[in-house]
Amino acid sequence: MSSEAKMKGRGNGVVHIVGAGPGAPDLLTLRAARLLEQASIVFYDALVHPDTVALAARAEKIAVGKRCGKHSTAQRFINKQLIDAAARYPIVIRLKGGDPMLFGRAQEEIAALEAAGVRYQIVPGVTAALAASAELGTSLTQRGLARSVAFATPRVGEGEAPSDWAKGIAAADSGAIYMGAGESRAIADALVAAGKSPGLPVAVVENASLPTARVFYTTLAALPGLADIGVAGPAIIFIGAQYRARSDATATERADGRVPARAAEA
Ligand code: SAH
Repeated sequence: MSSEAKMKGRGNGVVHIVGAGPGAPDLLTLRAARLLEQASIVFYDALVHPDTVALAARAEKIAVGKRCGKHSTAQRFINKQLIDAAARYPIVIRLKGGDPMLFGRAQEEIAALEAAGVRYQIVPGVTAALAASAELGTSLTQRGLARSVAFATPRVGEGEAPSDWAKGIAAADSGAIYMGAGESRAIADALVAAGKSPGLPVAVVENASLPTARVFYTTLAALPGLADIGVAGPAIIFIGAQYRARSDATATERADGRVPARAAEA
């Protein structure tokens, strides 16, 4: 659908589905910041930084966060709240962590808004895998080493059939796994079963872009050891030959001086 068609809804207000970026409030786009300043109401996810939400100084702020296993507002209820808000307010913001179009359930909201004739726009954000790559100082793509990247998650929604996510990672040179830190053993098993070598380097980045960021280097075979480390924050698991390259990085090699911890020795 063209953006013009998208803008021809029946509702009065426009719902802006906005990417808040990976965590650090200053990784927000200027467009998102301007919209937040103008917003009448903001529905925000659990992973959005409080300082980012606070940019919506004039807005009513409603938490609709979902964080694995914890209380969440049912998706259908969120859809309804967005539609209702658009009838009452000119600028409605649905603020999501990272980019809305990657593991953000944006499509369900878009479909509901379209069905209700509500106008909407998407504002992209920096997705977690890119912030985590910056944290590592390791490029997702590298000449001669990694020319394809797969974004995947082992997570499936309630009642959904298990997915073939591991096949996608196995087929690509590099993989970025979202929502997987709690399932490190299942991930390692699935990737080895899909044909990846047990010795393949793995990097895990928790809380990318935040002062609490942590980095762990390991291998696919040793990845289950992640469970013992206690990764409580959101984390990306990277798989790929290039993650071997920096596994010996010392504090002096890292601009922030943090020493990368190790999940387990290869
Ligand atoms: N739409 C978001 C992803 C939402 S799914 C985006 O584009 O980034 C939530 C998952 O994103 C988490 O389980 C974790 O895998 C990842 N994630 C979000 N913020 C992160 C961060 N600061 N550091 C590492 N991973 C993060």
